[in-house]
Amino acid sequence: TEEEVYCIGCGAKIQTTDKDQLGYTPKSALEKGLEKGEVYCQRCFRLRHYNEIAPVSLTDDDFLALLSQIRDDDALIVYVVDMFDFNGSMIPGIHRFVGDNPILLVGNKEDVFPKSLKRSKMKEWLKQQAKLQGIRPIDVLLTSAKSLDEIEDLLNTIEKYRKHRNAYVVGVTNVGKSTLINQIIRLNNGTKDLITTSRFPGTTLDKIDIPFEDGKMLIDTPGIVHEDQMAHVLDGKDLKFVSPQKTIKPKTFQLDDQQTLFFGGLGRFDYLSGHGAISTYFENNLMIHRTKLDNADHFYTKHLGELLTPPNQEGLKKLPALQRHEFHLDAKSDVVIEGLGWLTVPAHSTIVIWAPKGIAAVVRKPLV
Ligand code: GDP
Repeated sequence: TEEEVYCIGCGAKIQTTDKDQLGYTPKSALEKGLEKGEVYCQRCFRLRHYNEIAPVSLTDDDFLALLSQIRDDDALIVYVVDMFDFNGSMIPGIHRFVGDNPILLVGNKEDVFPKSLKRSKMKEWLKQQAKLQGIRPIDVLLTSAKSLDEIEDLLNTIEKYRKHRNAYVVGVTNVGKSTLINQIIRLNNGTKDLITTSRFPGTTLDKIDIPFEDGKMLIDTPGIVHEDQMAHVLDGKDLKFVSPQKTIKPKTFQLDDQQTLFFGGLGRFDYLSGHGAISTYFENNLMIHRTKLDNADHFYTKHLGELLTPPNQEGLKKLPALQRHEFHLDAKSDVVIEGLGWLTVPAHSTIVIWAPKGIAAVVRKPLV
């Protein structure tokens, strides 16, 4: 007998006979999917595919039309951000377009952070960051789109604040919004006809509607392109390499002044003055090289794209030059290269962070 296969998008049982029924997949696509270890029904495949190729820019007319629709609806806004790339996750002017609608702020990729970081502290940090951006969420929640349990918590929280209204899921690309929506669909599997796709009226933009039991909808909006993200300075392969899929294991270096660390070829830390233990939090496979500061420029030019990867040879063409950011730290601090990782630096340090042009380097109170 044939083994039963389920769509990893919606959880429907895959079948190859009836085009009009749930779970239909052409035979050839099923074979390909089985080889790759990921089978989608035709409908989810198209959705996914469409989602991937149709992120919208913030100035797109259609997107602006969509925003006014959200503002005019009495709804809950579920704003998904990447805890690993908070600044890169910001939708400029979000408070303008959601109107008076309440925002539930969801910090995704929580699993990337070591267990030693108190979740209460991370939530507090998320609240402060939101406030700095002029966002006053009704609640903040940490989640991991990879964990079904956490998605269940998220759904319960949405239910709590939705109060019989629609809920719109918004976010920039790469924060994990598709992963999250797919998980919601998977969890909901078993109730009637799940995903329906339709257009936002007056636009060319598609949306995914997932019905709640009261007939209202969870509405997935297109991902928004934000230029200041690692996703826009790296090629696909390099982006995959630096994005932590698992919990980060910190590495510690005993450094003196006038020493330098390279994070692959994508970032650099110079210790101008100070000394002590520096803990680094980057994707576990990203190579960290230590050199003397006075040799660092030469080392970078000589080894970029070879010893210092990523970028790979292809990605090298796309990568903007590293830009210099100098900080004096009176207190122990985290220094973050948004979307790449961070270091914890002792008090009384003067440091330089180098990050690709467009990528923010920011200082925050240590999370540990
Ligand atoms: P979208 O562009 O917002 O739809 O983002 P995707 O769902 O395509 O995810 C972008 C990247 O983040 C992929 O490499 C995912 O595997 C990864 N990702 C998504 N959610 C999580 C999460 O909760 N934890 C971790 N570690 N990675 C995640």
